[in-house]
Order: sequence, then structure tokens, then C-alpha cells
Amino acid sequence: FERIRNKTVVITGASSGFGNSIARIFVKYGANVVITARRLDRLEELKAELLDKHPEAKIHPLKLDVTDKAAVVEAFSKLPEWASEPDVLINNAGVALGFDPVSDLVEENITKMFDTNVKGVVFVTQQVLPSMKKRNEGVIINIGSLLGIHSVGNLSIYSATKHALRAITDSLRIETNSTKIRVVEVDPGMAETEFNLVRTGHDEELSKNMYNGVDLMTPEDVAEVTLFAASRHPRCVISQVSIAPQAQANPFILRRN
Ligand code: NDP
Repeated sequence: FERIRNKTVVITGASSGFGNSIARIFVKYGANVVITARRLDRLEELKAELLDKHPEAKIHPLKLDVTDKAAVVEAFSKLPEWASEPDVLINNAGVALGFDPVSDLVEENITKMFDTNVKGVVFVTQQVLPSMKKRNEGVIINIGSLLGIHSVGNLSIYSATKHALRAITDSLRIETNSTKIRVVEVDPGMAETEFNLVRTGHDEELSKNMYNGVDLMTPEDVAEVTLFAASRHPRCVISQVSIAPQAQANPFILRRN
């Protein structure tokens, strides 16, 4: 993990779940971070907490909606000097919305999922690629999903966005092959985050019961793998890695207590 020390790392979706834990572990190992999300208050809280433990760290909270291309371009053009040429980008922001079969899909949800999980990743990636290409180095990590490999019922669009992300990740690795940029996909299985709370429209009861009896991963488990992928020797790349709870054999086969 030591290779991450003093690197500049941009993390989307750092206000909760995986992104929050990713920010914590990267700072713990000496990285400077730009933490982004729509909920700035949460980012400010995270900054204060991190600075308490790691006063030497540079931390820049940035209010950012990844679906708003103009806002993304503007935000990246105004990064502080130390953060203007990120070494690592972690495209983590993402959403699943609803439980509808294809027959009942709601257009607004389809648009939101594609805008966030696919277009948002492209918009943000476009902001760091020029400087990574110029410096001939950099790591781009896309947080996909096991559902980018398999599909399940009632999550067709979410699965489609993560399949699309996988395609984009693979294409980007090919397009940057003439450089030393490394492109990584981390595909998690079920974990305890705010993901289901968002998916259920903030129905706490329902979101808690969805994973009832399953020994889930924690966000820290995913953060460790992300840090591992980001801190390999520049001569190698973790192209794709899946991480799931031991109780989740694949997206459909689960052991419940
Ligand atoms: P959370 O809901 O806890 O976190 C999602 C993060 O994305 C939040 O910080 C949220 O911040 C941010 N976000 C959502 N929409 C936008 C937007 N338009 N612009 C900027 N930021 C946005 O869920 P997870 O931590 O679980 O999700 C992180 C990633 O992991 C996602 O890509 C998800 O698809 C993926 N994943 C999750 C799994 C799980 O079981 N939890 C399994 C497999 C993959 P804010 O609302 O403040 O903007």
C-alpha cells in the first residue's frame, strides 16, 4: 500500500458507502484526496474527521453531480494546484433505482441510472485523461458490480449500466495502451452501504430486510481491494477483480443464516 503515499486521488461518491471508506483508507496510507459527491455537508464532516487523525493530509471536498457535464468540467478546472493533475481517479458514484421488471420500467429511473453510472463516469474520466496522458501515468478505477457480469431480474437497467461500464473500462484500457495509464475494474457483490436505501426510495425497513440473514461485506472490504489495485507496481495492472461476501456464491446463490 506504501506506493499510494503522497499521490493525489479523486474519488466520486465519497459521501457514503464504498467511496467514504475508500477515502478513509487512502488517507490512512498517505494519499491526498479530492472527495466528491452532491452532499457537501457529508464531505465536510469526512474532511474534519480525517484531518483529526491525519493532520498532514490534503483533503479537498468538492460538491459534484457527475451527471451534469458542464458542472463536472467547471469543477475540475478549479481544483487546487496540488490536485490539478490527479494520479488516481476512482469512479465510484452510482445508483440503482426501483424493483421494476422490464414491462414496468419508469423512464425517469432509466435515465438517472444511465446518466449516473455510465455518462457520469465518462464525464469525470474525460477530465483526468489529458493530464494522465501528458504525464504518461495514472490509474483509473471504475467500481462496477457482479451485476456487470451476470444479470438478475428486476434490476435490468442497473445491470445494463454496469455491463456498459465494463465495456467502457475495457475500451479505455485498449485506447490507453500506448501510454502507461492503468485501467482497473473492481466488481463488488453485496455490501452494507446506503445503496438499498436509495434503491427503495429511502424505505429503511425494506432496505434492511433485502439482505436479511446474509453476512454482508463491509465498505472497508471493498476499499482494501481498491487500494490494493491502486498501489501495484506501475509495470502491472489489476484489470478486473471481483469481491463478494463469502456467503454469495454468485449474484443469485446466497447463504442466509
Ligand atoms: P451508496 O448509496 O452508499 O453511495 C453512493 C455514492 O454515490 C454516494 O456517495 C452518492 O453521493 C454518490 N452519488 C450518487 N449519485 C450521484 C451523482 N449524480 N453525482 C455524484 N455522486 C453521486 O452506495 P455504494 O457505496 O454501495 O455504491 C458505490 C458504488 O458501488 C456504486 O457504483 C454502486 O453501483 C456500486 N456497487 C454497490 C454494491 C452494494 O451492494 N452496495 C454492490 C456492487 C456495486 P451523494 O448522494 O451525496 O451525491
